[in-house]
Amino acid sequence: MKILFIAGRWAQNIEESKNYQELAGKAEVHLTTEEDQSVLAEKAKDVDIIITGAPVSAEIINKAKRLKMIQTTSVGYDRVDVDAAAANGIIICNVAEANANSVAELVFGLILDVARRISAHDRLLRDGGWARYHVERQVEIRGSTLGIIGLGAIGSRVAQIGKYAFNMRILACDPYIIPDRAEQFGGKLVDMETLLKESDVVTTHTPLNEETHHLISERELSLMKPTAILINTSRGPVMDEKALIKALKQGKISGAGLDVFETEPLEKDNPLRGLDNVVMTPHIGSTPGALRYMIEVAIDNVIRVVEEKEPFRIKTPDTYYTSEKW
Ligand code: NAD
Repeated sequence: MKILFIAGRWAQNIEESKNYQELAGKAEVHLTTEEDQSVLAEKAKDVDIIITGAPVSAEIINKAKRLKMIQTTSVGYDRVDVDAAAANGIIICNVAEANANSVAELVFGLILDVARRISAHDRLLRDGGWARYHVERQVEIRGSTLGIIGLGAIGSRVAQIGKYAFNMRILACDPYIIPDRAEQFGGKLVDMETLLKESDVVTTHTPLNEETHHLISERELSLMKPTAILINTSRGPVMDEKALIKALKQGKISGAGLDVFETEPLEKDNPLRGLDNVVMTPHIGSTPGALRYMIEVAIDNVIRVVEEKEPFRIKTPDTYYTSEKW
């Protein structure tokens, strides 16, 4: 069996891992850091499986006549052309839950930073100043309402931390889960409008797909409290960035914490860079430890296939939108 491992930016030390060596002992593995889609399409021509931490376009999929499976090393599989995969009968498998805690801790880092203007004060001190500004905008989050859009692996961990560490009231919006699931985390399942109107902190944890593209846009932002904080660690296009920038400039919401953006890397002239009520990180939701673990889980799933076992977490067009594991 022939496998192309597109390592993307997480290439360091993959070959040294035990799982990689086990896979390489059982199949022919080609590891590459190449990201050019045409070059990759040539490399993928005769492979059975692609493992990837980078985009996989229709060009690659259509040329890979023997391809049966694409295994991502991430939760999101939005960078794989799912239509081309479906048209060619190729299954996509992702990695789940391995980085949920890592992302959830970043979510609270961003919430606390925006709520207390930590980075803004840090910048002020580094510039030689000493003042407590934005005093009226600094809030405690204990006892406030946390609205979670998408109560999957990450959303659930965020709910636990919010509930048990900060005694927050938990609201969740997720059309694919039953109310019991929200109640398990001391929360309540509500519709999107109620969540936006009642939450002090809104955080998105959905996959990116046609249904969730610009899920938070001008109308949704207008429903939020002017004191509310918005967090996005899911995928940039889940939020309409132009509408968000407008709302932040006009003080329609208090602030935002963003780990993901519509264009990554973030454009040098993106207006978000100039806004003081925004805290930004460059897509660092998973710690290096979580990333390593995710790669190991991905490789283990491919070893299952090499050993002629059924892989875990198969995605098909029927399950793209569902949260079938709950
Ligand atoms: P998950 O599949 O466990 O959960 C996603 C949840 O979203 C599911 O419960 C699903 O039912 C729900 N959902 C789907 N469509 C929805 C909609 N229209 N409205 C509300 N809810 C909806 O995934 P996860 O592990 O919790 O990850 C969530 C997202 O976070 C991933 O898609 C990924 O893109 C992103 N992520 C980002 C980073 C980072 O570094 N910032 C790291 C890991 C994951």
